[in-house]
This record gives sequence, C-alpha cells and structure tokens, in this order.
Amino acid sequence: MSVCLNETNVSVDLSIIVPFYNEADSLQRFFDVIIPILRDMNITYELICINDGSKDNTLDLLIQKKQQIKNIKIINFSRNFGKDAALTAGLDFAQGKCVIPIDSDLQDPPDLIPEMFDKWKSGFDVVLAKRVQRSTDTFMKRTTACLFYKIYNLLSGIKLPENVGDFRLLDRKVVNAIQHFSERTRFMKGIFAAAGFKTSVIEYERPLRCGGQTKWNYWKLVNYAIHGITSFSIVPLRVAMFLGFTVTTLAFCRAIWICFKVLFCGIDVPGYASLMVAMLLLGGIQLITLGIIGEYVGRTYEESKKRPIYIIRDIF
Ligand code: UDP
Ligand code: MG
Repeated sequence: MSVCLNETNVSVDLSIIVPFYNEADSLQRFFDVIIPILRDMNITYELICINDGSKDNTLDLLIQKKQQIKNIKIINFSRNFGKDAALTAGLDFAQGKCVIPIDSDLQDPPDLIPEMFDKWKSGFDVVLAKRVQRSTDTFMKRTTACLFYKIYNLLSGIKLPENVGDFRLLDRKVVNAIQHFSERTRFMKGIFAAAGFKTSVIEYERPLRCGGQTKWNYWKLVNYAIHGITSFSIVPLRVAMFLGFTVTTLAFCRAIWICFKVLFCGIDVPGYASLMVAMLLLGGIQLITLGIIGEYVGRTYEESKKRPIYIIRDIF
C-alpha cells in the first residue's frame, strides 16, 4: 500500500503536542514559558494537551488553562496509556502544517521552537533536537542510554539518531506517513526514524525538570529498551539461532573428542563439575532463547488482538 501525503485537515501553521501525566507541579510553568514564545512567532498555532490518565489535578489545571488560552485542545484518556500512545493521539488530532511533540516538564526547551520552525521553512521535513550533553542525567542513565543506542543500531535495520528524544518538528507529510504505521504497541522513536524524510538537526543542552518527577525508573527503562528493539528488529531471534548452532557444533566436536579418548585411552572418570556446567549452560541458553521467542510470540499476540492504542474519555 502506498502512503498518502495529502494535506487533510490542515488549519494552523503549527501544532504542539504535549503529553501530561501527573504534571500538576510543572504545568503552570510550562505554559508561562511556551505561550509567549508561540505568540512572538506570529503564526497560527494550537496546543494539543493529552492528559494520560493523571491521578493528580493535571486535568483541572488544563481545563482552567483552556479558559484563558483559546487554542488549547485537551484530550483526556480513560486511563494511563503511556507517552507513546499520548503522542499517537496528538498526531491523530493535530491540524498543523507542521507538528512538534514536546515534554511538559520543560526538559525540551520551548525556546528552540522558532529555530526549528525556521529550519522547516527553509525546506526540511524533520528537524531533530539533539541533546549534546546530558550532564543533568545521572552517570548511570547516560551510560545505559548510550549502550541502548549502540545495541539498537547494531540490531535494527532502522537507525535511531543518538540522544534524540521525541522533541522534533515533523512536516504534515511526515505526520500523514506516520499515521500509516498501524502497530498497536508503539515505539515512537522507531516509528519516527522509520518514516525517514529530509532531516536537519539542531543541538541543545538538556535542562533539569522544572517540577514534579520523572515517570521512569531503571526497570521501566530496561523493559522499554527491550520493547524498542523487538519492535524494530528480529535479529535477536537470529542471534538465538546462531547461538544454538554454535553450542551444538561445540558439543558435537566435544562428543567426537570424547569418543576418540575412550577408544584410545580407555574410560576416564567422568567429571561431575564439567557435566553440571555444560547442563546449566545449555539450560540457560535454552531458556534465554525461549524467552526471546516468547517475546516475539507475545508481540504477535498483542498485535493480533487489534486493541485501540488509546481510549479517550473526553475532549475539551
Ligand atoms: N508522560 C506521559 N505518560 C506516561 C509517562 C510520561 O504522558 O506514562 C509524559 C510526561 O508527563 C512528560 C513526558 O511524557 O511530559 C516525559 O516524561 P518524563 O519527564 O517522566 O520522562 P524523562 O524526561 O524523565 O525521560
Ligand atoms: Mg522529563
């Protein structure tokens, strides 16, 4: 199927997509910073705010904001679906000639928006905002992030630009193309990268959160990394197969060697330790391999259910 690139529903110059999940502490500050920047740009714009099942009073604050700022649209999810689902909803509702997803904690600096917009006007379809130094992240987070990009790009045919989050400008053509990615389990960074298009990069230093707390911990990040890799690569299945072949070949060679030894040197006292090691090693490899296969079977199962990516409770 070809991807249609027609300009449907385009009514403003720029759509800003903002996911909110328990962001009552940073919300006020976010609007205080972004609104003057957008006003100064002298363009038509809309803010699509997605309340991703917040348990604090984020929704009430958003509704209050909408009374003051007319070009805000609030999409209120029925529960927490995750940032990638929130971005998907934002892209579905955006009516801009170009679209920018941005975090609501001011870690994606809104003052980059005019520069991104200018790059777009000069003919680029995608403008990536790249974090040049991540000193505000912990050493552990920087190292694991770096490792993730290396492993991902080694395993996946689609290369992820390193240290680039979801903060980027997308032309309407790109947004329309992305809407043809129908997978239920979303890994937006991969989907953005898979779309391609003429891309430019601007660099920035990532500031600290302006309030509230990150929604990530290491366990979630590890799962997200596995989710990302298995969404865009079947190389782990192949690695498992090669590992199986290698271990089988080694075991076969060892069996031949033992046969020769028995034939020419007589029966040796069998080693309990080496048997245990071989057994545990093989057991471990089999379990890992099963786990990898299970991950993909699970993914196919999730996709086959064709459940909605997000459910909307209200639109304000
Ligand atoms: N977010 C969301 N749903 C979630 C988790 C996060 O909409 O389940 C939003 C959150 O409100 C913020 C953005 O995604 O606007 C980035 O989240 P966070 O700052 O926790 O991530 P980090 O910057 O630490 O990677
Ligand atoms: Mg953040």
